[in-house]
Amino acid sequence: MFCPNCKYEYKEGIFICPDCGEKLIEKLPENKILKFDTVELCEVEDEFQAYLITSLLEENEIENFVRENFLPHTRVVMGEKRKYATIIVNKEKFEKAKEIIKNF
Ligand SMILES: [Zn+2]
Repeated sequence: MFCPNCKYEYKEGIFICPDCGEKLIEKLPENKILKFDTVELCEVEDEFQAYLITSLLEENEIENFVRENFLPHTRVVMGEKRKYATIIVNKEKFEKAKEIIKNF
């Protein structure tokens, strides 16, 4: 089973993504399958901020996607409030991505 939001694969018997709360699906659509290793870059407050950062990353040819934090309970982890979404990038380009958003 796969989370269409996080793109992670989970073992059978799990139907809701433990990370974001999205319903898992049997197979990711071809265009959703990731061709790179991922790492969390940063969290964003809202859709607009997510848009700004991902366009910046795309300009610099850094593969990325936005993982939304769907369920309210997924936004609270160890007393720490999670934000609207997390920006995920290609692991190989993590350092470059960090440079890019540093001045953001
Ligand atoms: Zn998920």
